[in-house]
Amino acid sequence: MRTPRVAQAGRRLTVAVMLVFILTASAAAITKDQLRVKPGFNLFSPQQDVQVGRENAADVDKKLPLVNDPEVVRYLNNLGRRLASFAPYNNDYPWTFKVVNSQDINAFALPGGYIYVNRGAIEAAEDEAQLAGVMAHEISHVALRHGTNQASKVMMAQMPLAILGGMLGQSSSLTAQLAEAGLGFGVNSLMLKNSRTAESQADEVGTYILHQAGYDPHAMTQFFQIIEKKYPQRTAQFFSDHPNPENRVKAVDAFIATFGPSPGGTTNSRDFEATKKRLLGMPPPPKSSAAAPPATNSTGPPAVPSTHLVKYQGTGFSIDYPDNWEVYGSDNSVKLAPSGGLLDSPEGEAAQAYGASISFYQPPNQGGKRWGLVDATQQLVEFMRQSNPHLSVTKQSGMKLRGRSARSTAFVNDSPVAGQKERGALVTVRSQDQLLALVFVSPEPAYDAYKPTFDAMLRSLALQ
Ligand SMILES: [Zn+2]
Repeated sequence: MRTPRVAQAGRRLTVAVMLVFILTASAAAITKDQLRVKPGFNLFSPQQDVQVGRENAADVDKKLPLVNDPEVVRYLNNLGRRLASFAPYNNDYPWTFKVVNSQDINAFALPGGYIYVNRGAIEAAEDEAQLAGVMAHEISHVALRHGTNQASKVMMAQMPLAILGGMLGQSSSLTAQLAEAGLGFGVNSLMLKNSRTAESQADEVGTYILHQAGYDPHAMTQFFQIIEKKYPQRTAQFFSDHPNPENRVKAVDAFIATFGPSPGGTTNSRDFEATKKRLLGMPPPPKSSAAAPPATNSTGPPAVPSTHLVKYQGTGFSIDYPDNWEVYGSDNSVKLAPSGGLLDSPEGEAAQAYGASISFYQPPNQGGKRWGLVDATQQLVEFMRQSNPHLSVTKQSGMKLRGRSARSTAFVNDSPVAGQKERGALVTVRSQDQLLALVFVSPEPAYDAYKPTFDAMLRSLALQ
């Protein structure tokens, strides 16, 4: 009598399946409301995120080599869209996933859901869950709107509300205007670098997405650990774009512990194996073409400024600077700095430790009266304080620049160089109807050595 036995076994199997379902259901009991992380302050609308992302993606597509193999692209988009559907916020963005033909293990996201995964990252992943982990992490940066959140903070800190309002109202050229303000999202842009706080947030939400999508939630940190050990030479860019929060693994493990007893999940798929095999069978990618981003954490101070100066021609001004310095930024918002002079700040954002930055500000007219130099300078100092809470003014005085009234504001502040104070001067002068602001800065111990260079630069300033 076989039949009853089979039926018996079948019933047992059903019970086992049901148990798994119950366990899975209780493991998946974490809900969106239990997430501690929410999108932060933002001056942009979600639609503007999409606009900024789409415009910059068009540019990125031109500049980076892409893998256009339809099977690979289809697989990545199926996986990515499924993961994104579990994003706790903004999951209705037009999610688009592209494969960059680069051996470096990296991935990055533009606002609005345009995500780029390097071929090297797919090839290095040991299973689908690990790849899903990287993608869920990037999806989280987008869902939490980290790009425009960071741009919003910089804009609030640096721009008088008058131009801010005008800028955000004009949606047609938002990307161009952001780029003008030094806030571009293009290839190697500093805006693609996330702060350590943003990284921790993306870890947490990424882990949540992985879990909701039925993957082993440990897979994301597993992947970060594996690539750091196994491919140190191909991950430099990854860990520069993704500052590694301390105790990353511990933090994620503690978060996973709140999901309930040992949550597991899917780790691999046949489609993943097939895609990886397809990529590994393709000709090797071209040698890395994109230049390294300006921010570095180089050891030791930069080279001494050259006494041979060259001219920087901006819009409405020109200024001389040492010929061994670099120019970062555009026409009327520019940083002139020695190589290694821009560093990651403790928040993981690029900050200027050495050199000069020059930008224009449009102070609002007060009560119909044309703004004055003293008030406008004061307002600018307040804006600077918002992103530099330890900035303190040591001396303010009037001065003449090429016959025009100008103002010098000396300050001390925390340097982006760990453990050091910095000294600097803000020099402001009216140029047409705007305020031209020059900031000269270096760590305290180096200031006397840089001062002659700063003075020579100031003497060379020409205003049109
Ligand atoms: Zn990240």
